[in-house]
Amino acid sequence: MASPGQKVVLITGCSSGIGLRIAVMLAKDEQKRYHVIATMRDLKRKDKLVEAAGDAYGKTLSLAVLDVCSDESVKQCIDDATLSRIDIEFNNAGIGLVGPLESIPIEEMKKVFETNFFGVIRMIKEVMPDMKKRRGGHIIVVSSVMGLQGVVFNDVYAASKFAMEGFCESLAVQLLKFNVTLSMIEPGPVHTEFEAKMIQDVRQKEYPGADPDTIHYFKNVYLPSSVDIFEVLGQTPDDIARVSTVHCVTLGPSLCLKSTCIICEFVFSPVGL
Ligand code: NDP
Repeated sequence: MASPGQKVVLITGCSSGIGLRIAVMLAKDEQKRYHVIATMRDLKRKDKLVEAAGDAYGKTLSLAVLDVCSDESVKQCIDDATLSRIDIEFNNAGIGLVGPLESIPIEEMKKVFETNFFGVIRMIKEVMPDMKKRRGGHIIVVSSVMGLQGVVFNDVYAASKFAMEGFCESLAVQLLKFNVTLSMIEPGPVHTEFEAKMIQDVRQKEYPGADPDTIHYFKNVYLPSSVDIFEVLGQTPDDIARVSTVHCVTLGPSLCLKSTCIICEFVFSPVGL
């Protein structure tokens, strides 16, 4: 339970990567300003977080189950959490999708939107009414540099993040009237399981429906340069967590905070194709 004066922060997707590091950094805040509700869809994946949280686990960090793709799961988690209140709601959970468009089933594309776009909306719809009523709160959304700039072979993932940008830019204006801040984090490449899952996923695929030239460009031009870019420019989840925690402290009406890597925009452009 949060102590008086502590801000309650609920974060989605804390089993790994950026969400895990944000949860730990806030829970270990020296001034103990936060009580973190670190959520994940499967608590069997909690060990890395619990280990990283150390002494903070059970004190300034508690765990809860939350699948952003399920109405019931979101509602149940928020209902439990709002027994107190949520001051900062952190939308971090997300999935990637990369590959030739022709070979990706529509169902797989819908899963990306269901998680990255509707998952965030599901969360915001649940926490926003109470924040508006209280005339206070902060909603943070982890978008991506790909929400600002399309990247070859990332068509659907980029579209899901672009959609989020339009949604947030529109909603933020209304929320300001209620003293609720909505801000976005737009990282460039970050070394997390996200990258590993992408590489593993593409290795397993055959790309039915894609022509040989497209498969060649994808496998022999895009993938190696993407791996290089991650290697050379990749930020750490702690880099993103540091930027994000600054957001939690300064509750001013900032709409868009970018931890974007400008060079990515240049290198990711479809030069060799
Ligand atoms: P990870 O794959 O390490 O973490 C993603 C997290 O989201 C995992 O905890 C995963 O849980 C969770 N998640 C996926 N689907 C759901 C769901 N339906 N409900 C709840 N949780 C879910 O990747 P990152 O930490 O890198 O990604 C975090 C965010 O950062 C994402 O929104 C991503 O788009 C964004 N981002 C990442 C970049 C990168 O290069 N890594 C760059 C720019 C933005 P589970 O363990 O259950 O799969």
